[in-house]
Amino acid sequence: MTTIKERNIFERIEKEKILNELIKMFGKSNVSDRQHDLYPYSYDMTEATPHIPDFVVIPETVNQIISLVNFSNEYSIPIVPYISGNNVGGLTIPNEGGIILDMGKKMNKIVKIHESMMYALLEPGVTFGQLKKYLDKNHPNLKYGYTMAPPYASVVGNALLSGLSNLSGSYGSMADWVNGLEIILNNGDLVRTGSCFLSKEFKPDNWFARYPIPDLTGLFLCWQGMTGIVTKCAVQLWPKKEYNMGLLAIVYGHEECAEILRELGRIEVCEDISAINSEIAKMTYGLIKPKKFEKEPDYVVLISISGHTKELLNAKINYVRKTFKKIKERVKNKIFLTNFFTFANILGPEFRMFYNIPSVITPLYEWDGLTWIGSYANPDHLGPLMEKCYNLFKQYGIGPIIYMKSMKSSHYCVFRPIIRYNKKKEQAIVEKLQKEFLEVMLEHDCVPYKTPVWMTERIREMCDPNWIKLLERIKNAMDPNNIFNPGKWGL
Ligand SMILES: Cc1cc2nc3c(=O)[nH]c(=O)nc-3n(C[C@H](O)[C@H](O)[C@H](O)COP(=O)(O)OP(=O)(O)OC[C@H]3O[C@@H](n4cnc5c(N)ncnc54)[C@H](O)[C@@H]3O)c2cc1C
Repeated sequence: MTTIKERNIFERIEKEKILNELIKMFGKSNVSDRQHDLYPYSYDMTEATPHIPDFVVIPETVNQIISLVNFSNEYSIPIVPYISGNNVGGLTIPNEGGIILDMGKKMNKIVKIHESMMYALLEPGVTFGQLKKYLDKNHPNLKYGYTMAPPYASVVGNALLSGLSNLSGSYGSMADWVNGLEIILNNGDLVRTGSCFLSKEFKPDNWFARYPIPDLTGLFLCWQGMTGIVTKCAVQLWPKKEYNMGLLAIVYGHEECAEILRELGRIEVCEDISAINSEIAKMTYGLIKPKKFEKEPDYVVLISISGHTKELLNAKINYVRKTFKKIKERVKNKIFLTNFFTFANILGPEFRMFYNIPSVITPLYEWDGLTWIGSYANPDHLGPLMEKCYNLFKQYGIGPIIYMKSMKSSHYCVFRPIIRYNKKKEQAIVEKLQKEFLEVMLEHDCVPYKTPVWMTERIREMCDPNWIKLLERIKNAMDPNNIFNPGKWGL
């Protein structure tokens, strides 16, 4: 029984009537209540508890969604905004049933690329692959940041959740790049936030900044679709530099790897600095459960550098090498720097997938289960975090995968232990391991992102109670009937 029934919705309106109303709004071919259509929306790759929705609708226009919000509000029917369900946190699982609003299929227009002010105004369904192809063809001097997510994941979903990309080393989290949003509120109002608020009518060419007005955009960032439905989003683009180089550091030791991430971030010349444990590198040449042998390195660090001229690029490379030399002296020779492509040639062309993103990182899809706790971490805590989480992987007999990134010149880092697993056989053990990871990470002040429901329960227990009170007050004000993605963050 779904909560749609627990909310006594079907006592006030028959299911058949809801179906007919939805068909009136979206057309017959864009609405379904058939189990085989609903099932794929009921789960994701993670350990999150599945729950089947009651309906799925595929919108094409903003007005259709306004009608849906007004109708759902009247009967308190949950609406779960969905793009491609790739969030890796169970965030589009309809915990209380209701309607999946699948915006990935038909709301995927690139509304505007503003060349001089360097932003893209997008509908929610635009994918990373689509944006990259479009920019490469039509605006070759501009680029966006790309993630390890598959090319069919969405740019807007990722920005709304404060994701991280291959430019985050320089420019921080993807939520920082949001200039403004168009949102449907619970009462059906359509509102624009950011610099575009300054005109009565929608204009595509005034979406260049988020400040200096009160930051209402923040009411919708990292809220997991709980405060309104975003129908347009402007994200910053960056100049594409002609000269590019990949370096790769081979590292012995956890703290030594942390030192590289911290120090290379601070010199502000690398576009991206991310690290993985060396077992992952072996996965790219086909080993399913690779082992690390004695005397093999522990981590590899991928470093991207770019410049508008060859001279600029070379100057940056030289500065990286100089800094690296200093670190090497400090850590007593336990790190080595090489050319990324030389290393990729030894390991095989598959290894280039880490550099040429967006791409499908095939080793992550070995089984049907894939999960992680992603977090923003204190760079000073990375060493102990790596060591403790690596040992936990070993203790549980699960192949270790640890992914890290320096963010915004090392103001903070990303720390993410990743688990690939067989859902049928390993679900219970993975749930246990995830809980242990969480405790270690919280103990080290990590702030988890894209937080699944089970994790928010634990965070609520330990965080500032007044923060929770404020969260609840905002949610109640924005969504008094609790129709937007109910159940997330315990709300
Ligand atoms: C293999 C793999 C690797 C990944 N690597 C990275 C990585 O390197 N960096 C990174 O940042 N992410 C990564 N991700 C995560 C993922 O790509 C992003 O979180 C993603 O882009 C969001 O998923 P989505 O676009 O499918 O949105 P969905 O999962 O469909 O939605 C995400 C959230 O936003 C809400 N939402 C959706 N649409 C709207 C809307 N219109 N209005 C309001 N709320 C809405 C949903 O309810 C949900 O809470 C990875 C994922 C995978 C599978």
